[in-house]
Formats: sequence, C-alpha cells, structure tokens
Amino acid sequence: MRNTYDFCIAGGGVMGTFFAYHLLQLGYKVVLCERDTKARQATVRNFGQIVPSGLSKDWRKLGRKSLEFYKSIQQETDLSVRAFGSLYVASNDEEEALLEELYQINLEEGYTSQLLNKESCLTMQPVLNPNYVRAGLYYPEEVTVEPLLMIHALQKHMVKSFSTFTLRLGITVQQVDEGSSNVELRTNTNESIFCNQFILCSGNEFQTLFPHLFEQSELVLAKIQMIQTKPVKNKTIKGSILTGETIKRYEAFSECPSFDQIKKAAPQNSFWKKYGIHILLKQANDGSLILGDSHEYASVKERDQLDFNQNMDINRFVIDETQKIFDLPEIIIQNYWSGSYVQCQTADVYINHLTDNIHIYNGIGGKGMTASAGFTYEQTQKLWKQ
Ligand SMILES: Cc1cc2nc3c(=O)[nH]c(=O)nc-3n(C[C@H](O)[C@H](O)[C@H](O)COP(=O)(O)OP(=O)(O)OC[C@H]3O[C@@H](n4cnc5c(N)ncnc54)[C@H](O)[C@@H]3O)c2cc1C
Repeated sequence: MRNTYDFCIAGGGVMGTFFAYHLLQLGYKVVLCERDTKARQATVRNFGQIVPSGLSKDWRKLGRKSLEFYKSIQQETDLSVRAFGSLYVASNDEEEALLEELYQINLEEGYTSQLLNKESCLTMQPVLNPNYVRAGLYYPEEVTVEPLLMIHALQKHMVKSFSTFTLRLGITVQQVDEGSSNVELRTNTNESIFCNQFILCSGNEFQTLFPHLFEQSELVLAKIQMIQTKPVKNKTIKGSILTGETIKRYEAFSECPSFDQIKKAAPQNSFWKKYGIHILLKQANDGSLILGDSHEYASVKERDQLDFNQNMDINRFVIDETQKIFDLPEIIIQNYWSGSYVQCQTADVYINHLTDNIHIYNGIGGKGMTASAGFTYEQTQKLWKQ
C-alpha cells in the first residue's frame, strides 16, 4: 500500500523545521525534506540572536512565543539555548531617547526590560568601551543559540521524539503535482512522495520550484557579511549586545515617538547607510566573537547582481567600528562568510496558498531565527488544528 503523509515540508531551515515540529504536536504524520545533507543556508549562517525586542509590535508577540518554545525544548534536549538576555547600548542623546521610549512601550505591553545607566552597562558587559556607552536597555528574557548546532539538534530531537516524523536529508523536491486525492512530489532521487498537504519553505532557493512565481513576487534577497574572530582570551560576553546603529534600524524603535525625526536627521550618504551596517556582537561557545553585519539587496530576478565575493572594505569598517565600541584585545580573524535571507518589500512575510493543499512560506527576513517558531505555531493553530 502507498505511504501517504499528512504533510510534506520542503526546506529544513528554521521555518520548515518548526512547521514540522508544530504539525507533529498536532498529531500529524510529517515528512521533512531538506535538499542538503545538512541545512546550510541562512538558518546556520546567522548570529543566533533570539531578540523579540527588535521586532514590530505583532512580531514581538510571535518572537516571545518563540522564546517559550526554545526554552521548553531546551529542557528536553540541548539546542544550545543560552539565557543571558540582550543589551542595547546607546552612545548619544538620540539613541538614549529611543531606549527610554521603547522602555515605556514595553511597560504597556508587559514585556520585561530594564533601563541601565552607563555604570550598570559597564558592570553588566565590561567588554564595552566606557567612551562609547551612554545608557542601555536590557531584556533579561531573551536568549542566544548556536546556529551551527541548533537546527540539527532540533531535527535529531524530533526524530527521537515522534514516531510519526520522517527526516529526509539530501532530498530535493523537484516537482509538485496535485491529483484528485493527494499531492505527488518528485525528488532528485527519482522517488515519489505522496502527501495530503505540501508546504514549501525554500528560503533563497528560487530555481527549483515555482521559479516564475518567485521572480514575479515582491521578494528581495539580502546579502549579509559576517565575521568570526579567534577565541578571545580573558573576555566573557554573555548574551547579545546591540549598539547605536541597531537602535536606529530595528523595527521596534520605529514605534517610538522620536524615531522619524532622528532618522531624518541621520546622514544619508554615510558608509553605514550605503551598506546597511550596524554593529552586533555575540560570543560563541568556543570563546570566539561573532561580529556583523551589512546588508546589500537585490530582487529575485536580479539576484545575480549580489556578488559572491566578500567586500573587504565592509569587513574592515565593521572591525574598526567594533574596536571603537568594545574594549577588545587585537582582533584576530578566524572566518569571514556571507549569508542571504529573503524578505518582502511591503509585507512582513510571504504566504501563498497556491491551492487548498499547496502552501508557500518565505520572506521572513532578518527575524527568522527569532520569530519562526512562534509564527509557524500561529499558522498551524489557525489552519490545521484538528
Ligand atoms: C548572516 C545572517 C544573520 C542573521 N541573524 C539573525 C539573528 O541573529 N536573529 C534572527 O532572528 N534572524 C537572523 N537572520 C535571519 C534568519 O537566519 C532567517 O530569517 C531564517 O534562517 C530563514 O529561515 P528559512 O527556513 O526561511 O530559510 P533557510 O534557512 O534558507 O532554509 C531553507 C532551506 O530550504 C532548503 N530547500 C530549498 N529548496 C528546497 C527543495 N526544493 N527541496 C528541499 N529542500 C529545499 C534549503 O537547502 C534550505 O536549507 C540572519 C540571517 C543571516 C543570513
């Protein structure tokens, strides 16, 4: 007899994997197909900062829901979740004003945050350069993960925990045909997989399935350059540190009354702005520092315009600015890499229910590690709760 799954999901990044997780919790039989033998796109190339604090109001809620999942799954298996909070550091009056305004919004929403003066910031994160720091806003509930570990640990845990789960690594779904009773998928291994519902979470892969649809969509690709140092001796940095340009960039702050005025007054032709740079820092488990980042954009159609090279002017700039903000010994580079995520130009996420049984989810942008667990929970509850 033919094996038919309730759901097949193509794409083993954070979005596809959490779809699978929530559908399994709802009692469905699920197969997750990942093209690579181990997921290696945006989901493993990022900072691993789980920071609902940076998101717009509705997405903050979903990010906070994600925190619950990360923390509860961490009780069952080691996903590399570390709960040391996030600190936003202001360096001038304008950035400090935004921190104070967001603090008020957090109070109204019941999201715990603490305003810190300069001394408290330096006590919490002695790695900060006292000349840079004016004030801080700290979110004690937020966490970090190790992107190189998290998704693989989660998938392994799901295989162990659910007899109704099948993980197919190295399997590309290449063709989708909807019949009268179910959906037939053809794979690179020349197999057919049958399912009642198909969900595509393919991230920045646009060529294999529905290429025309992606090319005509409002999706854009963002290329991000990242830096990892060699392990840094005698410095321990817990949690995420986000700095002044982040405060002027993240969506949460755009809800603050003085945001528009501050944004307008910012220089328009700076290197910061040209390459969408802001300085974030996190220490990985091995003691190395993860630094970044920059943003360059292209539509799906014009994605080849995004160079595969590293622009070393950007890397040099990020390192120089990092050295101004932090009191670090000589920075010795271990690794440069780039990753790309997909975002929408107007919407917060791309959802396309092509038919009752074929669904595309993409374009969650720079918030995917933070929001996917909560977002996919909301979608599965709304659409498929039995
Ligand atoms: C450098 C960088 C830093 C970031 N930092 C953060 C951060 O700190 N916090 C945060 O919240 N977010 C961050 N993000 C954003 C976050 O990483 C992304 O939003 C998220 O990983 C997107 O997940 P995804 O599952 O949609 O896509 P992906 O991770 O790209 O996964 C898609 C998967 O689908 C597979 N696939 C594609 N087509 C097929 C097919 N036909 N069949 C089978 N498999 C297929 C691919 O191989 C891939 O593994 C960052 C992103 C980058 C690039």
